[in-house]
Amino acid sequence: MAFLQQLRDPACTAIGEVGIDLTSNCSCAGQCPKPAECRQQVTRDQVTTLTTVLQGAVVEGGGRPVIIHCKDGGSGRAAQEALGCFRRVPGASTLAVHWHCFTGSVDDIEAWRQLLPNLHIGVTAISLRAPSTRLALGGIDPSRLLLESDAPYLVPTGAGVGINSPWLLRHTLEELASLRGDNLYLLASQLNANARGFYSFE
Ligand SMILES: [Zn+2]
Ligand SMILES: [Zn+2]
Repeated sequence: MAFLQQLRDPACTAIGEVGIDLTSNCSCAGQCPKPAECRQQVTRDQVTTLTTVLQGAVVEGGGRPVIIHCKDGGSGRAAQEALGCFRRVPGASTLAVHWHCFTGSVDDIEAWRQLLPNLHIGVTAISLRAPSTRLALGGIDPSRLLLESDAPYLVPTGAGVGINSPWLLRHTLEELASLRGDNLYLLASQLNANARGFYSFE
């Protein structure tokens, strides 16, 4: 796979994002003749890609974090499929994992942390919407949290603009601090340190 070549570049700091997106469409032109079959095939292809990337990360990743995308409209199935890939790849549980744009639950975090001791949870504006995800975010050790903009997507509520930018991270930070009951400045400093440490930024 081409990404393995890029791992030789010292400028490469992480692998991904890669994962399972059960909301993605097939590539049939016009109207899809077999939506159910196509959807299953897309999922199988994503499982194969994620498995291959995890194998590459274990063997040639040099300890770089892997950024995982899971999206399924709230069913939780994408996270289960992704975790299944980690289970099937020998050595994958040793990887540093950033669960990007977390929208899971307390149970998801339990299951993932059992298998992946070096798991970090990425918080975007959309992570703060579902009550089950807010509950999960309230209970996570602050050293495990990462703040993400996902710009230009996922404009934070109350930002008053149409396009997201990293400058708007403050809105997500404020909402996260208030839901956790954390001091805003201490949380900001912790999240900054988390990102620098996790991604080995100077
Ligand atoms: Zn199709
Ligand atoms: Zn994503």
